[in-house]
Order: sequence, then structure tokens, then C-alpha cells
Amino acid sequence: MARSWLFISLFSFFNSLAIGAVSPATITACKALEKALPNNVLYKVGATAQRYNIEQGDYWSVALSSLSPACIVQPTDAQQVSQAVKILNQNEDAKFAIKSGGHDPNPGQSAMDEGIVIALSHLNGTTYDPAKKVAYVKPGGHWWDVIGALDKQSVTVVGGRLGIVGVGGYLAQGGLSFLSAQYGMAADQIEEYEVVKADGSIVTVNMQSDKDLMIAMRGGGHMYGIITKFTLRTYPIGKVWGGYRIYTSGKGDAVHAAFHKFLGNAADPKAALIVNTSFATQGSIIHVVFFFYDGPKPPAGVFAGIEDIKPTFDFCSERTYNDLMIFNARGTDLLGFRASFRTITLPHVESDPGWYQEILGQYGNITLSYLKSHFVALTTVAMQAFPASIGKNSEARGGNAMGLTANDKTRFILEINTVWRDPKEDAEVYGMAKQLTDILDKKVANVRASSASKAETYLPYFMNDAAYDQDVFGSYKDAAKFKTLQEKADPNGFWRKQSQGFPMS
Ligand SMILES: Cc1cc2nc3c(=O)[nH]c(=O)nc-3n(C[C@H](O)[C@H](O)[C@H](O)COP(=O)(O)OP(=O)(O)OC[C@H]3O[C@@H](n4cnc5c(N)ncnc54)[C@H](O)[C@@H]3O)c2cc1C
Repeated sequence: MARSWLFISLFSFFNSLAIGAVSPATITACKALEKALPNNVLYKVGATAQRYNIEQGDYWSVALSSLSPACIVQPTDAQQVSQAVKILNQNEDAKFAIKSGGHDPNPGQSAMDEGIVIALSHLNGTTYDPAKKVAYVKPGGHWWDVIGALDKQSVTVVGGRLGIVGVGGYLAQGGLSFLSAQYGMAADQIEEYEVVKADGSIVTVNMQSDKDLMIAMRGGGHMYGIITKFTLRTYPIGKVWGGYRIYTSGKGDAVHAAFHKFLGNAADPKAALIVNTSFATQGSIIHVVFFFYDGPKPPAGVFAGIEDIKPTFDFCSERTYNDLMIFNARGTDLLGFRASFRTITLPHVESDPGWYQEILGQYGNITLSYLKSHFVALTTVAMQAFPASIGKNSEARGGNAMGLTANDKTRFILEINTVWRDPKEDAEVYGMAKQLTDILDKKVANVRASSASKAETYLPYFMNDAAYDQDVFGSYKDAAKFKTLQEKADPNGFWRKQSQGFPMS
């Protein structure tokens, strides 16, 4: 008895050391969570330290894995998520984050220094219902788990393009897939959510129960609750063709000319294209182009001539869909790097084929002096084709928070991602990406001024690729309606005040 008392006292002492700088409300909440879910609350020291370190080490960016939450709760089902939410509700000064895969590099969104992390890693698994043609997908885990499980049954879902990426955040934020031109955004395929609301109740949301909420949640992040199960529409899949090709900087003009042509035609929705330009040490440049075709062999010319430009390396071939997921993820484990994302959605301006190279020239100038003085940093501008057919499919599936419709014109989503080592450089790195999006904002304002077409210049931010300071919700055309819905679903501001996401202003 005495020994166990001593053990408990020492354990509590070490725990309180570990959470020394932590708010009293957070300590109270951790203790209440531990009491309610005795085996599923982890601390930095003590018997659960190893599990804590594994969970905390499992973020894509080291900027997040190096944080130190007061405790991590690992619920194993929706019921336990509900219990956690109810406890956090009673401790309104306790801040928390929701983590599915931990791939979002934004500080505070799926990681929480000195707060509480609700880690959904044990809520994973995929089951297929052939009669209903749907898959039930839980938020923990990675896309190769989901697509791997479905591939065996010759069906798939509209999901990640790199198997390593987390499932829950990807789907909650919207999700752009190789299959989006054919079927719409990943979130458009959600037929039903099982979600834990702000009051801790577990509800199902679908088009019949609440159409407005359903649309708001398709790209609403965690502002309406913690999603514990997604019911996703499935589609047949066989062998696909894809991978990537690497081109030297001298091929940039030709690659981007073809990308412009691809955006202008984008006739075959089975084809998808992403042109990445990476700036490395000393300003050296390479282009890495991701190709995808939903079929074993792409028809000649479907990529508008990019396929005729000779690459330095060619890693494209016929594969199973899940092999492609695994292949595309090679080398994307960051291994000790910090990472950032920033995005802007841009129109396809038919009369401006030189714009892409102009953007890259501007970014090259912005980043040159930084890159000249760094041997281990890399910054990439990804140009992702976003054909008009995505909006058409979105609307047919009932719509989403981004407000995509059948009237949409072709656009491209630009994503700037940077990996670097030194935390002292965080502000400089974020600043470089912001400089580029500020320049592009001005250019877009000019396009808006000279365009008669509202559809051409509706350019909502894509949440999955956004930086924490970007006004994602404000860029949605129904932002005011979503704010009202959010306040109705969360009258006490539980998600808005205690967790951090893209603000709903
Ligand atoms: C290497 C790499 C490749 C990528 N490729 C693509 C791509 O092809 N297409 C694309 O669209 N995006 C892509 N992304 C972006 C990716 O979709 C986002 O980073 C996404 O957030 C990752 O999901 P996650 O489960 O890891 O999210 P997490 O980092 O765990 O969470 C991110 C956000 O989602 C919220 N969230 C997480 N789980 C839930 C839940 N169950 N309920 C409610 N809210 C939740 C969190 O609160 C947090 O704000 C890529 C990212 C990386 C790092």
C-alpha cells in the first residue's frame, strides 16, 4: 500500500514537473482525462513516456514534433472522443489540438505546446460496403492504409496523392486528389460524417439531416466538431499510370508552356498534372512534374506535350493505385526538417503563357540570398492544375465549403512549401512565401479589374495548402453563412476559443 502510494506521489510529482509551465486548467483537464480514460492519457515522463514520445515524434514537421504538450489523449473510439470533449468543455482555459496524421505543418493546428493533443492514431481502419458502394474510413492512419485496403477490391476513394499523408485532416480540409477532375474534391465524396460536437454528443450528419451543415463541413476543418468516421463514395479502379519526371532548369520554359496548354484544354479528366519547381542551395533549380492517368496507358498528347520533353530522370510507369501512393511518397519523410505551406488560387489567364515563369523568376529573386547562405534548405513552388470539371463534379455531389460550382473556370493552385532546419529562421521563411503571395494578390486584383467574368476570378484559398495566417474562411463565397452555422453548432465558442485553426472572422 505504502509503496503504491509512494509510486503515485512520485509519478504525480514528475508529471507536474513535465507540465510545470502549464496552466492549472490544463493540469486539471489532463488529470480528469486520465481518470476517465486511464490507459489512454500519455505524459512526457513516467510509465507512458515512451508512448508519448512515439506519438509526439510522429509529425511531418519537426517544428511540431519538438513541441511539448502537457498530455496527449489517444481515444480508441468515438465514445472516448466524446468523453474527452466533455472534459475539455468543463475546463475552458485548457487549450487543445486535434491530430489525425499530423501532416499539416501549421503551428498550433494539430500540435499544442503545453496544451492537450487529442491524437486519433488509434481511430483508424477502412471497411468497404459493396452493396452501398461506400467505404467507412476512420481519421487516423495514412492514405496508403485506406487505398491499400480498397485496392484489393478494385475500388478506391478520392484521396491523397502521396500515401504518407494523414487521412482526417486531409478530408476535413477539402482534399485535392488525382481523381478530382473526374469526381470532385475528396470532401465532396463524403456521404456521411460521424462527428463529436462541441457539447460532446456524437451525431451523424448527411445531406438529409442537414444539407447546409454538410456543405459547410466539406472544407470546414474542425470548426464543427471532431470527425470520427467518414462514409465515402467509392469508384472502380484498375491499373493506373503515373509517377514523376525530373527536368533541369533549362527545360522550364517548355514545361510551363505545356502546363499552360494543359490548363487551356484539360479535356480528359482522367489526367492530372502538378509542376513543382524546387529552388535549392545556391539558387539551383529543378522541375519535378507529377503525372497521373486513370488507366494503364495515357493517350498520346493528353498532357499537352509535356510528355514529349526529354526528362533527366523518368519515374513514370503503369502501377496499381496503391503502388503509386507508396512510390510518390518516397523521400517525403522530412527527417528532422521544419516545414511550411502557403497557398494562393490563381486563374488560368489564356493570354498570359509567360506568367508561370514570371512567378518563378520573382520567387527566385526573393529566395536567392537566403538559399545562397544555406546548404540544407529547399523551397518549392507547386503549380497544381485545377480544371473546371472539379467544380462541375462538386456541384453534382451537392457542393462544398469552397463554393465550387459548374460555372467555374479552370484555375491552378499554387503552393509554396519550404523545408529548413533552424527555428531562428522561421519568420524569414514564412516572410519569403508571403512576399510572393502578396505580389500575386496584386496581379489577381488586376485580373479582377479587367475581367467581366466573376467565375474566372472567384479564387478561394485551398485550406489543405494554406498558412496559418491566411484568411481561408474569408475567401469562401458563403463565409457569412458558414459563420452563422458555426455559431449555431458551437454556441459557446468551444472550437473557436480552446483550439486553433483557421479563424472564422
Ligand atoms: C507530403 C505532403 C503531401 C500532401 N499532399 C496533398 C495532396 O495531394 N492533396 C491535398 O489536398 N493535400 C495534401 N497535403 C496537405 C494535407 O492534406 C494537409 O496537411 C492535411 O491537414 C493532412 O491531414 P492530417 O490528417 O495529417 O492532418 P493533421 O495535421 O492531423 O490536422 C490538420 C488539421 O485538420 C484538423 N483535423 C484533423 N483531424 C480531424 C478530424 N478527425 N476532425 C476534424 N478536424 C480534424 C486539425 O484540427 C488540424 O487543424 C499534403 C501534405 C503533405 C505534408
